[in-house]
Amino acid sequence: MKTYILMTFLSFVLWRVSYGNPVDIDLPAIGDSAGSLISPQQEYRIGQAYFWRMQQSVSLVDDSEVNSYLSKLGQRLVMNSTSPNLPFRFFMVANPRINAFAAPGGFIGVNSGLLLTSQTEDELASVLAHEISHVTQRHLIRSFEKNNQSILPRAAAMVGALLIAASDPQAGIAAMTVLQASGVQARIDHTRAHEAEADSLGMLNLVKSGFDAHAMPTFFERLQQSSRFNKGNAVPEFLRSHPVTSSRIAEARGRAASYRLKTKQRDNLQFYLMREKLRVMSTTDLVGLKHYYQSAIMNGNYRNIKAVRYGLILVISALGDYRQAMAELKKLIILDEERLTYQLAMADIEVERGRLSQALNIYQINQKIFPNNQALTIKQVVALLQFGLPAQGRKLLLQQLEIGNRSSQIYKLLAQTSGDMGKISDAHGWLAEYYYSAGRIKQSVVQLKLAVSASKGSQYQLAKFSARLEDVEATLIQLEEL
Ligand SMILES: [Zn+2]
Repeated sequence: MKTYILMTFLSFVLWRVSYGNPVDIDLPAIGDSAGSLISPQQEYRIGQAYFWRMQQSVSLVDDSEVNSYLSKLGQRLVMNSTSPNLPFRFFMVANPRINAFAAPGGFIGVNSGLLLTSQTEDELASVLAHEISHVTQRHLIRSFEKNNQSILPRAAAMVGALLIAASDPQAGIAAMTVLQASGVQARIDHTRAHEAEADSLGMLNLVKSGFDAHAMPTFFERLQQSSRFNKGNAVPEFLRSHPVTSSRIAEARGRAASYRLKTKQRDNLQFYLMREKLRVMSTTDLVGLKHYYQSAIMNGNYRNIKAVRYGLILVISALGDYRQAMAELKKLIILDEERLTYQLAMADIEVERGRLSQALNIYQINQKIFPNNQALTIKQVVALLQFGLPAQGRKLLLQQLEIGNRSSQIYKLLAQTSGDMGKISDAHGWLAEYYYSAGRIKQSVVQLKLAVSASKGSQYQLAKFSARLEDVEATLIQLEEL
């Protein structure tokens, strides 16, 4: 593990040892990495290895609008955390169970079920802030070091297996058996002290970021209630790894009371819109969901009327009634002309109707208003490819890379645009990055070999892909040794 190769595409340059670095408050010093057996760099690699492995068994939500919403919310909290320079990465797992988890190095996963259970953006933020604090305080690493000092060389595999088990019990079973055989404490049990610390630092972070401190105890209560009302094994997984007791709720309530109540209204419409988008994406019963929205609107039973109407539009469109969906959408757009989410929904309906040039027109107009927006760019590039305009798409994608968007979707589309433009070695090279970002390192090696053999004509290409191949092969060897 110590010879693990640092990866080109992960901004290790940005890495700073900023753990436990008090900003303007008195923080507990135990988050400090001094004297730790696992270095911050190793921590990042543990998190990265986990993130790769997890993607082999768990499906992530691949909607770029939902993902960029979650990332923006997370980054806003990170900016106000005790480690604003850590390269956090937020991702959403398509899983109805209520759970969130944090891997060392800043990989924070949220199940779609958790977002659907949150009633306000502040509640969702409170869970993220809590998880961010587990990372900045190095809780997992520290309990691991404490319990398993004799088997540290295999720490990455161990912590990775623990985390996979936490995010997906089915996939974790095999990993757990191995762990138990080696005598490792095979569960993520945040101690009471760690939970208390994550609560108090998380709440401070929440308040500094402009959210309501009371959202944290309110969400805990909601989780507790949901486990009380759902009989059987429906205890939210979040409660298993982060046990919530009545005294913990009372403590959080007491702490929240010491913060002034925020009276300033924020625009949190995007939270409600993304929640409904996720609800429509997750449903197996579109007709039932349509009735749910209709009766919510009729009875005034909603938190945000625009979001409920948006949800209904998505359902109507998914059921194939594009004309009605478009008519309803236009009524929403009149109220909020520059809401990109509505514009993208309009373009989606046009695509579904087969009116591609109308959709492309919507993307092009909005690219001027929201330059380099991730969700918009991805949709626009897909349309450009269908129109046989790969060069325009490639230009937009390279701009995304420039602004630091290294999502697997971007790499996949770069491979497609390059292929369509006849740039064969580039196409393989980008496909290699796509596989790499998804943790499919073997496939990445295969593509890089193809890139090398296709770049015979260009010394520059040959050198570039050969060097990358060497790096990725070394990574593969290290991963197999873990
Ligand atoms: Zn916790």
